[in-house]
Amino acid sequence: MRRYDTDIEVAVVGAGPAGSSAAETAARLGAKVVLIERKREMGTPVQCGGFLPEVSELEALLPRAVIPEAAAEIPEKYVLARTRVQRIFSPSGDAKEFSVRGRVVDRRSFDRHLAWRAARAGAEVLVDTRADLSGGSLHLSGGRSGTVEAQAIIGADGPSSATARGANLARRQEAGVCIEYEMAAVNIDPGAAEMYFGTKAAPGGYAWIIPLGEDVANVGVGTRPAYLHGRRIHDILDSFIADHRIAKDKLRGGKVTAVMRGVVPAGGMPPAIQRGNVLLAGDAAGMVMATSGGGIPLAMVGGALAGEVAARAVSGDGSLTDYTLRIAEAMGRELKNSVRIREVVDRTLRSDRLMDGLFAMLPADQMKATMRGQIPKALERAQDIIKKRSTTPSGSGEGSD
Ligand SMILES: Cc1cc2nc3c(=O)[nH]c(=O)nc-3n(C[C@H](O)[C@H](O)[C@H](O)COP(=O)(O)OP(=O)(O)OC[C@H]3O[C@@H](n4cnc5c(N)ncnc54)[C@H](O)[C@@H]3O)c2cc1C
Repeated sequence: MRRYDTDIEVAVVGAGPAGSSAAETAARLGAKVVLIERKREMGTPVQCGGFLPEVSELEALLPRAVIPEAAAEIPEKYVLARTRVQRIFSPSGDAKEFSVRGRVVDRRSFDRHLAWRAARAGAEVLVDTRADLSGGSLHLSGGRSGTVEAQAIIGADGPSSATARGANLARRQEAGVCIEYEMAAVNIDPGAAEMYFGTKAAPGGYAWIIPLGEDVANVGVGTRPAYLHGRRIHDILDSFIADHRIAKDKLRGGKVTAVMRGVVPAGGMPPAIQRGNVLLAGDAAGMVMATSGGGIPLAMVGGALAGEVAARAVSGDGSLTDYTLRIAEAMGRELKNSVRIREVVDRTLRSDRLMDGLFAMLPADQMKATMRGQIPKALERAQDIIKKRSTTPSGSGEGSD
């Protein structure tokens, strides 16, 4: 095991979309940066559907943020499929769709591409090396051992962030648990990203079909432990594929070529994302749209901002304490709204009848605004109706799929 004991300006833990974006930005601004990743091969195993809206959609999703170049312009070779619509299915099988131009990236090569960009900008990269924060220093283990003393440490180490724990920034929050199959030989609409709601298909969440090509797709379910009632998430996905009244015709005969599991933070950002010389970005900071579980764009925006604030602070131009405000300006409103919307929708997720009612009330354009974390008037009206219905005895009770 080779030792790596160094004093550095900016140390970034985790080379996912947040960490590589942070390292690239900080290095471009002239900081001395190290990017530390515990995996031997970045991007593998994949724990993601790979869906990323086109830049015009990202600008509408986060109108106050600067979309990093790496999220705006993705080389064609990393894009497996392009979608034109998002289609949502109610528990009873009604469909509504709205236009969302999106790209489905191959996360294995996309994550490596982002790390290459950071390396080209001048960041040093350590792979196969775990970093643990304690006593203000990063302690390395795995491929490299040693200690890193940094003026700024960016924790971009995902939903179970050790950096957040080491800096006393972690908080207990409800997380979504996801399982996903890559399936070949399926009969899908290659231009549509689909979401399916219902207490049987996806209790407490939704199931999805994301195209990876003409007849290949990521098919998954995201749910939350409180909604499982002893059911295994694996069985829920198998039953969605075999039995769902609409999805089964698309997925019948498909072959599973990969299985992916992962956790998604569902409760928004913790009360603090900066303490002392530590900044958190991406999943480590809860930067995920609670309405969809989508986190790649927010991780890249948050990571780039963390890198910028860190590089400026170490060169004496600003302070690490600027970070919280910069993030609040860029995505605070959208993140807060998405948690509020999820809390409203949560009340309907235990009952297919209520979910069908909410679905009927929202026109497609308002559904799109809801997914983007903008609270449309219709959802506020729906909230009152749901409150009334869920307090009457006939308003509860699970429907069937
Ligand atoms: C099944 C599933 C499907 C999803 N689908 C989508 C989707 O279609 N679109 C979308 O936008 N989002 C999706 N997401 C969410 C998305 O994957 C995350 O929001 C995104 O990856 C967050 O990026 P990140 O860089 O913050 O964290 P990560 O991508 O988790 O990267 C963190 C990195 O840190 C490394 N690391 C962890 N601890 C340490 C340590 N101690 N030392 C060194 N390295 C460490 C990890 O190995 C990892 O490489 C999905 C999530 C799941 C689970």
